[in-house]
Amino acid sequence: MKNIILIPYRNREEHLKYWIENTYPKLNKVLKNLEVLVIEQSEDNKLFNRGKVLNVGFKYYDEDEYNYFTHDVDVNPIDENILNIYNKDISNNHIMGIYTSQCDTLGGIIKFNGSTYKKINGFTNKYWGWGCEDKNLQNRSEFYNIKITKNILNNDKKRFEYFKIFNDVNDRKTSNNGFKTNFEYKKFKILSNEKKEELILESGLNNLEYKIIKEIIIKDNIKKIIVKIW
Ligand code: UDP
Ligand code: MN
Repeated sequence: MKNIILIPYRNREEHLKYWIENTYPKLNKVLKNLEVLVIEQSEDNKLFNRGKVLNVGFKYYDEDEYNYFTHDVDVNPIDENILNIYNKDISNNHIMGIYTSQCDTLGGIIKFNGSTYKKINGFTNKYWGWGCEDKNLQNRSEFYNIKITKNILNNDKKRFEYFKIFNDVNDRKTSNNGFKTNFEYKKFKILSNEKKEELILESGLNNLEYKIIKEIIIKDNIKKIIVKIW
């Protein structure tokens, strides 16, 4: 069984450098059979698509039995968190939030196993720019009765003791669809079950299109892939 950390990435060099130099060694000591995959969206004049990039990372391994973490590049846990939270066991049909928003979403850092991710059809591929792919994932998980547990929230007064968190870059907020997607996920709640499932199956792992342009070994068990998505 492996532990796979998926880092969605574009144009955050300083954060990635810090993560690899400081956080990776700590995680590598504790998490058995660790592999880190940085998934970089190619420079293509498109807005960043965090959900889709993470789907590509998942597909790269595509193993039901592996543990996966989706891990924002700007958040760095202290040792105690790694031992007490990252290292917690998760069962099938369980998604664990490690560092997530106070707003009932599954962004930031979460842990799940492959079969769970497949069951919910991964992230939607449709959300370009900032926002709501994490809320969409929470909706999907709730729909399929996935158990959701959370650890540290982004309004926790002690969050800066538990994590080193870089200041927001805010470039995702130059998005055109924050409000639209926000509306879309709220609407989701009032749809029929049939319609909900139709929406979930309309976009996700099942119709993911991408091309890996380049693969770079950063060190031992850290790899970066550059992907083109559309
Ligand atoms: N990200 C990135 N480049 C971007 C936008 C986002 O690498 O242009 C990745 C990065 O891992 C970041 C995560 O997506 O930590 C979430 O984006 P951001 O930190 O902007 O979101 P917020 O923390 O404000 O929700
Ligand atoms: Mn951030």
